[in-house]
Amino acid sequence: MIDPFGRPITYLRLSVTDRCDLRCLYCMAEDVEFLPKAEVLSLEELERLGAAFVRLGVTKIRLTGGEPLVRRDVMRLVEALGRRLGAGGLDELTITTNATQLATHAFALKAAGMRRINVSLDSLDRDTFRRITRSGDLDRVLGGIEAAKRAGLAVKINMVAMKGMNEHEFDRMLEWCGAQGFDLTLIENMPMGTAEGGRSNQFLPLDTVRQRLARNWTLEPIDYRTGGPARYVRIAETGRRLGFITPLTHNFCEGCNRVRVTCTGTMYMCLGQEDAADLRTPLRASEADAALERAIRDAIARKPKGHDFAIDRRLDQAPRLARHMHTTGG
Ligand code: SAM
Repeated sequence: MIDPFGRPITYLRLSVTDRCDLRCLYCMAEDVEFLPKAEVLSLEELERLGAAFVRLGVTKIRLTGGEPLVRRDVMRLVEALGRRLGAGGLDELTITTNATQLATHAFALKAAGMRRINVSLDSLDRDTFRRITRSGDLDRVLGGIEAAKRAGLAVKINMVAMKGMNEHEFDRMLEWCGAQGFDLTLIENMPMGTAEGGRSNQFLPLDTVRQRLARNWTLEPIDYRTGGPARYVRIAETGRRLGFITPLTHNFCEGCNRVRVTCTGTMYMCLGQEDAADLRTPLRASEADAALERAIRDAIARKPKGHDFAIDRRLDQAPRLARHMHTTGG
């Protein structure tokens, strides 16, 4: 699949649930209402959808949410998609998780063919972690991460940079990731949904963070790219990579290779735009996949050039995008 700007679309981020066991300040409203079950695709429908994308040329699938590992029987889907790795057309199957359920699932993820996973971890301080997640137990998360290591999964940590919240922890996180053998990616807080205390108050440009880090660490420029939006350096002192995802201070759309599908079968061609395609109707209308594949191709033909996120104070009243990340799939 090639989009109107000549970009091959090879990467699907597939949300398997909008539910989560954490309530991160920047991601969800505290009194979030989750979707009724009938609206959410069954595991079989999610598998059919994934298979259709692979037939159309997708080579990498990332499961996300909500928290993908809180979906009941999600391992059935992981195993079914895992069987498409290799000769089935899929090069990589992976997941983004908050690690609360990893102690249970890490070995099964590895056995299903996953090699590396992304774990979201915004703080190494118990109280700060609980404040950001509104409920989370840091020890449980660290236990999950340890289980992933034991299972032989490579771990990359994702940390959303928040002013006044975790900005004193970047050095500590870099050091910890170095000791654990993990890469780290810092992410700018994107304007999705309303955020407690106002989004502009939380926003911390990563240019500033990078300058601060450069006082204590040697940041060596490297060419490493994963096809994603992160730009990497190597930390000479630890040998690990540090990535920066900067949707607000730098546009990262020119090499975009991805689309997102929510757990209700809505396909977003761009994280930062409203245009979407309904895949659930063709999926449920017929057991054959012709209409579904047509709907996917039609949607790719409408993929926009890029997003236009911006943060300013007016956006705290009306965020650039009304939907929260847990709805779209992070
Ligand atoms: N529950 C899983 C997890 O914690 O990784 C997967 C879903 S979560 C929505 C995926 C990622 O989106 C997390 O790394 C989270 O920090 C990030 N995220 C959510 N809302 C965000 C926002 N407004 N700006 C930047 N990143 C955000």
